[in-house]
Amino acid sequence: MLMSLEMSSQTAIVIGAGPAGLTAACELLERTQIRPVVLERSEFMGGIARTVNYKGNRIDIGGHRFFSKSDRVMQWWFDILPMESAGVRPDSVDRVMLVRSRKSRIYFLRKFFDYPIRLTPGTLAKLGARRTLRIGLSYLWRALFPVRPERNLEQFFTNRFGSELYRTFFKDYTEKVWGVPCDRISAEWGSQRVKGLSVARTVLHFFRQIFRKSAGVAQRGTETSLIERFLYPKYGPGQMWEEVARRVGSKGGQVLTGWEVRGIHCSGRRVTAVTAVNPATGEARRFEGDCFFSTMAVKDLVRALDADVPPPVRETAEALEYRDFITVGLLADRLEVHETGGGPIEDNWIYIQEPDVLVGRLQLFHNWSPYLAADPSKVWIGLEYFCFEGDSLWTRTDAELVELAKTELERIGVLDPALVRDATVIRTQKTYPAYFGAYENFGVLREYLDRFENLYLIGRNGMHRYNNQDHSMLTAMTAVDNIVAGISSKENIWAVNTEEEYHEEK
Ligand SMILES: Cc1cc2nc3c(=O)[nH]c(=O)nc-3n(C[C@H](O)[C@H](O)[C@H](O)COP(=O)(O)OP(=O)(O)OC[C@H]3O[C@@H](n4cnc5c(N)ncnc54)[C@H](O)[C@@H]3O)c2cc1C
Repeated sequence: MLMSLEMSSQTAIVIGAGPAGLTAACELLERTQIRPVVLERSEFMGGIARTVNYKGNRIDIGGHRFFSKSDRVMQWWFDILPMESAGVRPDSVDRVMLVRSRKSRIYFLRKFFDYPIRLTPGTLAKLGARRTLRIGLSYLWRALFPVRPERNLEQFFTNRFGSELYRTFFKDYTEKVWGVPCDRISAEWGSQRVKGLSVARTVLHFFRQIFRKSAGVAQRGTETSLIERFLYPKYGPGQMWEEVARRVGSKGGQVLTGWEVRGIHCSGRRVTAVTAVNPATGEARRFEGDCFFSTMAVKDLVRALDADVPPPVRETAEALEYRDFITVGLLADRLEVHETGGGPIEDNWIYIQEPDVLVGRLQLFHNWSPYLAADPSKVWIGLEYFCFEGDSLWTRTDAELVELAKTELERIGVLDPALVRDATVIRTQKTYPAYFGAYENFGVLREYLDRFENLYLIGRNGMHRYNNQDHSMLTAMTAVDNIVAGISSKENIWAVNTEEEYHEEK
């Protein structure tokens, strides 16, 4: 009771209306008397997990599966958008989560391979006898003599898959994603992204599949990359976050768009206010608060602090690196690749492993949800290019990028450019916080920022951590738990997505 009275006149400033920021705002409204004001620089809800609507064709940046090991997150999502069922049918209601089957494959040597790679006779036949032999021998070698300690991603992969399988299926793609060699990337990325995968587990999973009737949506005990069914809002991930933003508004919070936080004002170990600027008008406004949740990139946060930041902290923040992302959406009559029986391909997305093209992944949006495409007779796809903001890919014009996309898909036999009816380009900054370069000094930054007792770093770029939506939400929930319980340590927020409990493998 005392807590409620104390909190009743308090305000929380939440920077960013992505999954983490909106979850924090919702949790505050439901569990405390603190009133959240969310400041979002764009006009969109959902951050990276927004849905872009292009002439009724919807784009999901990156393709967002909704799944979680956390019952708390699953329940939270169901409270916002119910799962499809006999009583909640997607053809008659809009507020619904579809249950989708996952299908994703690797396109390599102009052929499809299962993803995650399954060492079946079919796979080995496609790879050929010589490569298969090299895969087997190099796997055995590494199984007997693993590299220890395991410091970088190359060591992480070769210890689990052997050097030949690593070179065939992991090296080129991973380097496309990150733009740096695998031996410059921390092994930590592997343990968060690929987690329990290994050759032994892949084979085990294959046999389990044969004896299992069907996979439910509960995903406990399954490695992230193997999850076969997932939930998906009818109109893409942004639908979830638009609903959450509405809920925040209806419960007395505020979500203000077009406000970019550029200044963070401190007094001793407390943050007192932020200054936000409307990028369109140049208008600046000061927002006072009692507690602050930040999902803005750590690099930008440190730049914005008006405190006396020690030079090693400032230098580390300045040197943090990010990978950026371009999606080229193409609307076409059909694709030139088919399933074995001749029907349209059913993948949600395809990893493009071919070394003669720059495209990294192909999304088939109409296979994520049929409601993402305005015309069901067309294919609505997205080519994903990983790049650094300002590099030679990022700075190409939209027309050049569309041309590149069409030429590349023609080269690898996936699409006839004459069948493309429309196209659009979306550039997204800071999609991947990088686990290389200054990241090895991140502890200095974290220690410094944690000293601000009323500042909570949450989410993906907010913590410079490869967090999925569920992890991003859990960091927000844990921060609010701490406020409610009066816990000042932030250890448990940083523990999300690092401890066993959040890993797929126990
Ligand atoms: C390619 C790709 C695929 C992914 N696939 C999945 C998946 O399948 N499943 C899954 O669960 N997750 C997936 N994710 C992860 C998911 O997108 C993130 O976990 C989630 O979006 C992070 O939420 P967030 O709120 O921390 O950050 P963000 O989504 O980045 O949102 C931050 C918000 O803050 C705003 N902002 C930034 N700086 C400021 C500022 N100074 N002032 C005001 N506003 C600011 C931004 O505009 C943005 O709206 C994927 C991500 C990528 C890149």
